[in-house]
Amino acid sequence: MASTKSYAAQDAASALAPWTINRRNPNPHDVQIDIKYCGVCHSDLHFARNDWGMSVYPIVPGHEIVGVVTAVGEHVKKFKVGDIAGVGCLVESCRECSNCQDGLEQYCSNGMIGTYGGMEKDGSGPTYGGYSKNIVVNEDFVLRISDKQPLEAVAPLLCAGITTYSPLRHWKVGKGQRVGILGLGGLGHMGVKLAVSMGAEVTMLSHTASKEADAKRLGAHKFVLTSDEEQVKSVAGYFDFILDTVSAAHDYNFYLQMLRTNGNMVCVGVPPPGNPIIPFNLIFGRKSLGGSLIGGLPETQEMLDYCAEHNIVSDVEIIAMKDINEAYERMLMGDVRYRFVIDMATL
Ligand code: NAP
Ligand code: ZN
Ligand code: ZN
Repeated sequence: MASTKSYAAQDAASALAPWTINRRNPNPHDVQIDIKYCGVCHSDLHFARNDWGMSVYPIVPGHEIVGVVTAVGEHVKKFKVGDIAGVGCLVESCRECSNCQDGLEQYCSNGMIGTYGGMEKDGSGPTYGGYSKNIVVNEDFVLRISDKQPLEAVAPLLCAGITTYSPLRHWKVGKGQRVGILGLGGLGHMGVKLAVSMGAEVTMLSHTASKEADAKRLGAHKFVLTSDEEQVKSVAGYFDFILDTVSAAHDYNFYLQMLRTNGNMVCVGVPPPGNPIIPFNLIFGRKSLGGSLIGGLPETQEMLDYCAEHNIVSDVEIIAMKDINEAYERMLMGDVRYRFVIDMATL
């Protein structure tokens, strides 16, 4: 065991603060990673503040992890010391159920093990995430990262990237389709870049007027301010696909009317419960409302390779570890351009 510096939430009401955790020594199939950068996902905030009622404290958040391999177990084949490596939202699963066999570990029937907030497979204790100096993970849950892209801008791909890539692929978004990306934050800005790269006509649906220029710079073909009645009218019955990344409570019915016949709206944003859906809004037009959770290991690697090939990274604002609480407050106000990333040298 090695004692490791981290930042943790001790309960739902306290600010994140320094804390020491223990990391296991690498087992034969483990990779030990010295964490260089960790992205700040809105899920980190939801977990730290128990928004979903499932948090077990203390919590060390962080699941957009990139760093350098510092040790490998004797049976590790994929990595060697000095390689760049990444860890996303999950660090283990049962590996036996049909979902795991299909590379859909995020939907493991026996419960995938989250990078934080889970229980280690050997029962040795809770999993702690990337707001820390290092992490030890089984090589099957470690991703290969290109050395051609800036590491800090690659980190957010490990959650924001795969969470938007996976539904765009599953629902076969591409050329000739009109796609709406709802919410321009960490997930939303990756959604815009990826959907544009796949050939779709992309509209940014945002409730923040000042983000219009950025949306266009990121590649969006159109911008609709969702508080402007005329602009909203112009996209009634318009989209083949809407990707909903909004983190706060909102009215799904309002956006369902923007779908054309047979259109799909897919939620990845996870607001608190209590957002009623009126079935008429689905029935008239044979529309579907779906959901999607991050992505499995094979698809996450595919997404990283795709982004390296198409030169896609995240737009990041680097912060010091001590500024994490202020970053959370800014994230709550929608003031992120477009992902905070912690420089772990500051921990
Ligand atoms: P984020 O950076 O904070 O972005 C959320 C965006 O939602 C904001 O930038 C804002 O965009 C919009 N928004 C916020 N409050 C709103 C409101 N009251 N009404 C309308 N729009 C509002 O968060 P994120 O990291 O992208 O995460 C987004 C959500 O996805 C979170 O709930 C997170 O937990 C969830 N998530 C899910 C998965 C998954 O696997 N399904 C994975 C990662 C994250 P505008 O200013 O443009 O309106
Ligand atoms: Zn996340
Ligand atoms: Zn499984």
